Amino acid sequence: MSTETIEFQAEARQLLQLMIHSIYSNKDVFLRELVSNASDALDKLRLASYQDKDLGADVDDLHVELAVDPDARTLTIRDNGIGMSRDDVVGLIGTIARSGSAEMLAQLRAAKENGGSSEEASAELIGQFGVGFYSSFMVADRVEMVTRRAGETAGVHWESAGEGTYTVEDAADAPQGTTITLHLKPVDTEDGLHDYADEAVVRGLVKRYSDFITWPIRIGDEVVNSRKALWSRPQSDVTEEEYTEFYRHVSHDWQEPLETIRLSAEGTFEYQALLFLPAHAPMDLFMRDARRGVQLYVKRVFIMEDCEALVPEYLRFVKGVVDAADLSLNVSREILQQDRQIQLIRKRLVKKVLSTIRTMLDSDAEKYAAFWSELGRALKEGLLSDGDNRQAILEVCSFPTTHDAEAQTTLADYVARMPEGQDAVYYMTGDSRAALEGSPHMEAFRAKGYEVLLLTDPVDEVWVDMVPEFDGRPLASIAKGDVDLGGDDLDDETKQGFDGLLTWLGTTLEDDVKEVRLSHRLTTSAACLVGDPGDLTPTLEKMYRAMGQ
Ligand code: ADP
Ligand code: MG
Repeated sequence: MSTETIEFQAEARQLLQLMIHSIYSNKDVFLRELVSNASDALDKLRLASYQDKDLGADVDDLHVELAVDPDARTLTIRDNGIGMSRDDVVGLIGTIARSGSAEMLAQLRAAKENGGSSEEASAELIGQFGVGFYSSFMVADRVEMVTRRAGETAGVHWESAGEGTYTVEDAADAPQGTTITLHLKPVDTEDGLHDYADEAVVRGLVKRYSDFITWPIRIGDEVVNSRKALWSRPQSDVTEEEYTEFYRHVSHDWQEPLETIRLSAEGTFEYQALLFLPAHAPMDLFMRDARRGVQLYVKRVFIMEDCEALVPEYLRFVKGVVDAADLSLNVSREILQQDRQIQLIRKRLVKKVLSTIRTMLDSDAEKYAAFWSELGRALKEGLLSDGDNRQAILEVCSFPTTHDAEAQTTLADYVARMPEGQDAVYYMTGDSRAALEGSPHMEAFRAKGYEVLLLTDPVDEVWVDMVPEFDGRPLASIAKGDVDLGGDDLDDETKQGFDGLLTWLGTTLEDDVKEVRLSHRLTTSAACLVGDPGDLTPTLEKMYRAMGQ
């Protein structure tokens, strides 16, 4: 096939523009991204060759190789991994399949329209999103790629200046794997561009960003990285920077992790885990096809990405690695779901993550608050799905409250503030804080000085029905009928005075309400609607109605 010129998908084009004109200050990170991709490609090939003996791939000397040419001002990154077919190249490099990219671009556009700090905003968003291969265009004005998929005979040559189109053509004698050649922009230290055609610079970057990569990374004959799997090294040996770079490799995030968690078991059933809590919610956290799960290794051999069997859905933001010693290299996702060892690891992993959050809450309020504002909404889903750990989850939850206009409260703090005479934890669910605060239901509670939790996440509607109490105190919706505020009963004479009105209201509203009754729960409003204790809350009712039920 002759040379074909193809347009990048619209989203990809926009991201490329961002990279080309990027003000992202640390341009060095492109190398980490390319080495990370090369390492992934080697992992994939090793696994494929285990699973398919007839693959016909060469797996003898899997490695990454870096070479510079100072005269031509090029840097080449080569791996002999899985490689890509022509369709792969068009699909993987020409488009951005990652969920969340549309969202990210929408945010960028919004930032631009608001003017001002749009450049900073875009740098920030790039950092959160983590633009992998495209980051080469921060340092190169032209990128060439020659690749051949393992087991196939034909290779592909890809080339682009990042400006809207790329070309693909057949490459007859492409070696297995992928070779990327960067035609480097001129050195401009002001703009964060170091001399990436200088071997010493490149060696330094590999040591700094990719030391933990388990495949050999060579420059000439020298292997530059120490190749030790971080999770098998003694904890005290590993520096914070090493953890951070490893986190970036497994998470595709460009930020620092919020928390690093290590876990191991020895004996008959041995495993090690190195997990991270991110500092920001991943873009796809609430999307249907959100990535979930950590990487699974068996004795240092990469087995799969996004291993769902290892983490429940509500902890889908947890990133990292589990290395189990006794699994078969041929395990499938289906088998893993049933595997007893995996189930045990998962159990411990969940407990450890929850106890880590608990420790944050107890000892670092600021960190906990950062965690909660980014990931609390996902964690709350666990109140529904994880009955075994419901209590532990409840203890690390925080909610907006009438007690404080800004800070949220844990249930324990709420209970500690409860005045004499209050015997329930009161909450109301609804669309927004403002709507809840303005609700007539709130009046009596305000008058009494009782704190009310203001629950505005959709998931709140559901979990409140599954959590009858906290610390021996019932949870009670203030919008439901049997809330007893212990006020004085109205005397008979007063009641009789209202009989006529009540009967008339009851008849007039016959089709709309079950009952009309006198109440002392209101102080300034004349009337309010309440549900029966077993009824749906107003918001749930609205939700179900909208769904046509
Ligand atoms: P990510 O690594 O987050 O998926 P990238 O932009 O870094 O995003 O890469 C996009 C995709 O292109 C990868 O997921 C992979 O499928 C493919 N790819 C990139 N580099 C290589 C490589 N060296 N070998 C094989 N495939 C690659
Ligand atoms: Mg990548």
